[in-house]
Amino acid sequence: MEQADAVVIGAGVVGLAVARALAMAGREVIVLEAENAFGTGTSARNSEVIHAGLYYPTGSLRALLCVRGKQLLYDYCASHGVAHQRCGKLIVATQGDELPALDRLQATATANGVHDLQRLSAAQALALEPALHCVGALLSPSTGIIDSHGLMLALLGDAERHGAMLALCSPVLGGRVTPHGIELDVGGETPDQPTTTLCARSVVNSAGLHAPALARTLAGLDARHVPQDHLAKGCYFTLPGRAPFSRLVYPAPGQSSHLGVHLTLDLGGQARFGPSFEWVDRIDYTVDAAGADAFYDQVRRYWPALPDAVLQPGYAGLRPKISGPGEPAADFRIDGPALHGVPGLVNLFGIESPGLTSSLAMAEQVAELLAEPLG
Ligand SMILES: Cc1cc2nc3c(=O)[nH]c(=O)nc-3n(C[C@H](O)[C@H](O)[C@H](O)COP(=O)(O)OP(=O)(O)OC[C@H]3O[C@@H](n4cnc5c(N)ncnc54)[C@H](O)[C@@H]3O)c2cc1C
Repeated sequence: MEQADAVVIGAGVVGLAVARALAMAGREVIVLEAENAFGTGTSARNSEVIHAGLYYPTGSLRALLCVRGKQLLYDYCASHGVAHQRCGKLIVATQGDELPALDRLQATATANGVHDLQRLSAAQALALEPALHCVGALLSPSTGIIDSHGLMLALLGDAERHGAMLALCSPVLGGRVTPHGIELDVGGETPDQPTTTLCARSVVNSAGLHAPALARTLAGLDARHVPQDHLAKGCYFTLPGRAPFSRLVYPAPGQSSHLGVHLTLDLGGQARFGPSFEWVDRIDYTVDAAGADAFYDQVRRYWPALPDAVLQPGYAGLRPKISGPGEPAADFRIDGPALHGVPGLVNLFGIESPGLTSSLAMAEQVAELLAEPLG
């Protein structure tokens, strides 16, 4: 049986950030990735927004890690040449009864440590974005956009420079907790390939959508410490031609925890609308062109000039949820040994938005949980 020091399961943005942090802390790291390339999961299927940390309940991991992660991420992008743009974002009330939602959002943001929000009148918002319709807005200057693949490439480069190794086509099929460490059964590119077993001192389960299912295959981890997983699909539709706005535009938050159909920009200046929200029971990334119909009314509330029949199917992502329909949105879970009792194991559950923004801050926390006691 092969021995390993620290194994990270999953080479998405979070797994790569964790691998980097552990390698930089002096650990010998192996990253096991099921696919034949890194970053093909949720990390390649999101809005690529650097969130400011406005929405999440104060004191939650999502709030704390987003605000810290945003700062770490801007610094990292600047020092590592990762393409990004601090373009800012407008959160807009399109009718008078939505204005109180902006007040509540500003109060939450302040409590979360985000102090740069500016309240704008309709005229001030229109002076910034002439194509906009609103009755009032909040400007978030510290919201931005990022090349998520470029970020992952830089994280992997850092990790490898500190000795980490990425093993592609290496799905973890299951494992067990033993007195000597955590044994992992690792498959190959095809199911008929022989399984190898690796015994690791530390294991970080950063398998995204599959993290709960993977944790359930780990004999010796009490099943009570594995949450029920759910999937919520989000589809994007793109707008050909020139983008009508130079900042991101989000509707004022409603009752649901999902941020509503918003406009984001990519670094090439292309506009896309989304993501939609639909509970699903399997992984399927197809985008039904008919889904655009529901977007027109929602987008025209803040961009009345959206022409008919212009939206094109873009791509879809799946939110790795650990709360189901009708339940309050769950927080991120970074479950370490103190919680589940398995030495050396950290499970990352429910890492949906703002997981990209939070990745470096989350990696700090994981590295702290796995730090060797002094002496
Ligand atoms: C629609 C949508 C929009 C979003 N927008 C934003 C945004 O704008 N800003 C933001 O901050 N966040 C956003 N997020 C959240 C963000 O994308 C995720 O939090 C982040 O990408 C999660 O990264 P990850 O590494 O945990 O998971 P993933 O990227 O899914 O990586 C998990 C990896 O594990 C691998 N894997 C799975 N099972 C195994 C196994 N058994 N063995 C080995 N490998 C395995 C997978 O192949 C995959 O590569 C969004 C999410 C969604 C769904």
